[in-house]
Amino acid sequence: MSGPIDLHTHSTVSDGTETPAELVRAARAAGLGTVAITDHDSTAGWQEAFAEAEGTGLTVIPGMELSTRHGSKSVHLLAYLIDPDDSALREETLRIREARLTRAESIVARLAADFDISWADVVAKTAHGATVGRPHIADALVARGASTDRSAAFRDILHPKFGYYEPHYAPDPLTAIQLVRAAGGVPVLAHPGTRGIDNVITEENLAILVDAGLFGLEIYHRENTPDAMERLFDFADRFDLVITGSSDYHGEGKPNRLGENTTEPDVLERILTAGTGSEAFCG
Ligand code: AMP
Ligand code: FE
Ligand code: FE
Ligand code: ZN
Repeated sequence: MSGPIDLHTHSTVSDGTETPAELVRAARAAGLGTVAITDHDSTAGWQEAFAEAEGTGLTVIPGMELSTRHGSKSVHLLAYLIDPDDSALREETLRIREARLTRAESIVARLAADFDISWADVVAKTAHGATVGRPHIADALVARGASTDRSAAFRDILHPKFGYYEPHYAPDPLTAIQLVRAAGGVPVLAHPGTRGIDNVITEENLAILVDAGLFGLEIYHRENTPDAMERLFDFADRFDLVITGSSDYHGEGKPNRLGENTTEPDVLERILTAGTGSEAFCG
C-alpha cells in the first residue's frame, strides 16, 4: 500500500456523479494509492468498486457516511470497515433512506408550485436504488433550466432561507456511533468544522462520543474553517483521536478534487487495525 490516501468519496450510489467503477478509475487517474468509498447511508457500491480495483494496485476501504442529527443540526459520521450485513445498522440505514425519499418528494411537491419540476425529473437524475438527497433535486432543477449547476441550485433555490428545505429522520450521533462500533466499524466525525468555531461540538459532548468509541476527526477538509480546525486539532490531541484528511469527492457534483486533502499512512494503519466488520480490498 503506497500513494496518497483519500478517505471520503461519493458515487452514484448516493449523490456522486460517477458510478463506483468510474470512481475507482478516477482515483487511479488521480494517482491515489488508497480510496475509501463512503456513500451516504449505503454500502451498495462496495462490490463494484472492489471489482474495478482488482489487479490495479489500488486499495479500496469500504465505508459509509451516515446521516445523523444533533438537535436541528445535521451531523455526518464516516464509518469505515463496518459489517455490511449487521442487521441493526442495515435497519437504521434503510430507515434513513426511506425518510430521505419521503422528504425529497415533499420538497419537490413544494418546489413544483413555483418551478417547472416534477418528481419524475428527480427520479431521472437518481441512479436506481441510490440514497436520494438534495443534490438530485438540484440536478433536476438544472435539467429544467432553473439553475446553471448543482452549486448554484443549492445557493439560489435549495438554501433553507427560501423555505423549500425540510429535514429528514436521522439518529443522534451517539446512537450512530454505538451502531457503527457494534458493526465492527471505525467512526470518524465528517467535516466537523464547517460551521465555524462557534458551532464546533462542545468538549462535553465530544467526551460522550469518545466514550462511545468515536475514533477520529476529519480535520483536513475544504469546508472546515481555519478557526474551527484549530479547536479540533486541540480536541484530537487531548482525546487521542486520529486526524483524517479527505476530498469528499462527488464527481462533477462538487468542485472537490480527489486527493486534495489526504490522510497519513499511520492513521490509516490505526483505522485498519481498529476495524473488524469488513476488510480493505487490496487490488
Ligand atoms: P441532503 O443530505 O439531502 O440534505 O443533501 C446534502 C448533500 O448536498 C451533501 O452531502 C452534499 O453532497 C450536497 N451539498 C451541500 N451543499 C452543496 C453545495 N453548495 N453544492 C453542491 N452540493 C452540495
Ligand atoms: Fe453528499
Ligand atoms: Fe458530509
Ligand atoms: Zn460526504
